[in-house]
This record gives sequence, structure tokens and C-alpha cells, in this order.
Amino acid sequence: MRQVGRAEAQLRGEGGAFDAILGLGTNLGDRVHNIEEAIRLLTADGSVRVVSRSKLYRSAPWGVTDQEWFVNACVAVQTELSPHDLLLHCQAVENEMGRVRTLKWGPRVIDVDILTFRDLEISEPDLKVPHPLIGERAFVLVPLKDIAPELRLGGRTIDQMLEKLDSREVQPL
Ligand code: AMP
Repeated sequence: MRQVGRAEAQLRGEGGAFDAILGLGTNLGDRVHNIEEAIRLLTADGSVRVVSRSKLYRSAPWGVTDQEWFVNACVAVQTELSPHDLLLHCQAVENEMGRVRTLKWGPRVIDVDILTFRDLEISEPDLKVPHPLIGERAFVLVPLKDIAPELRLGGRTIDQMLEKLDSREVQPL
């Protein structure tokens, strides 16, 4: 794990200091409810507290395109959990909501990704932070901009990353 910048630095976004940003996505059932339920479960035991959240967006499927539209959102959170414990916490919420892992990038009740964790760079088999596909996914970058407009990843601003992508298919609900 490599630390960039200040030790244990929290980042700042629209709602104040946060430790991590989570990306949420769903394309099965009542998608708005699924996002709300995931946030409720993520915060239920107090180990994760939401500092700010993006608008909800409707986005075209990515990767496997022959499936329903997604609803996506990002939340900035404070937590004392370690990165791995936060990953386990996110996976427990996915499992509790009945996510069945079938097709990669296929339909899902809920997907919870750790997009950033403080200023850490983590490259382990089960956890890569910042999430390696952020810069390729408008459906992540557009909500991310709502809560952390000043964020830079690999020296690039969110707008610079978005320039190369088609964000027309990511629309506020
Ligand atoms: P997915 O099917 O997109 O939910 O991917 C889940 C897998 O990605 C899990 O096996 C995780 O261990 C792994 N993974 C690696 N980095 C991350 C991250 N930053 N956030 C969530 N899952 C991650």
C-alpha cells in the first residue's frame, strides 16, 4: 500500500472531509430503492457515515450492453474501517441485498465499489484503489463530480477524464 501526500490524509469534498468515496450501481428491480437500501445498510452499524451524496443518474449499460439501464450514484463517507474491512463491509451489503455473481458486468441488484480511500494507492489482488476503471466510466465520473469536483486522479481532473468519454448517456434522474 502506497501513501501519497500527508499521512492518513482525509480528502475534502462538497460536504466536508471524507475518508472514502463509494460508487453504487444497480440495474435490477426497483433501482432507486436499491440505492437507498444500500446506503441504509452501509450506514446501519455506524461504521460508515455519509458526508455527501451525488444525485441519482440513469446510465446506459457498460461492458455488457444488452441489459437494462443502470441507476448510479456516489457517496463520500467517513469511516474508521481499514480499506479491506470497508471492502468486506461493502461486499456484505451486496450479499445481503441478494446479489448473485453471474456474468461479469452483467445485471446486478447492487454493486458497491470503493472508488477512493483517503490518498492511498492500493494494488492488491482483491483491492485496487483508486478503482482502476474510474477514468473509463462516465457513469462513475459524473456522480463523482457532484461530491468531489476538485478530485484529481493520476494528475487528471474529473473534467479532463470526462473529455474523452461520452457522458450524454448519463442523465440525472
Ligand atoms: P465487481 O464484480 O465489479 O463487484 O468486482 C468485485 C471484485 O473486485 C471483488 O472480488 C473485489 O475484491 C475486487 N475489487 C478490486 N478492487 C476493488 C474496489 N476498489 N472496490 C470493490 N471491489 C474491488
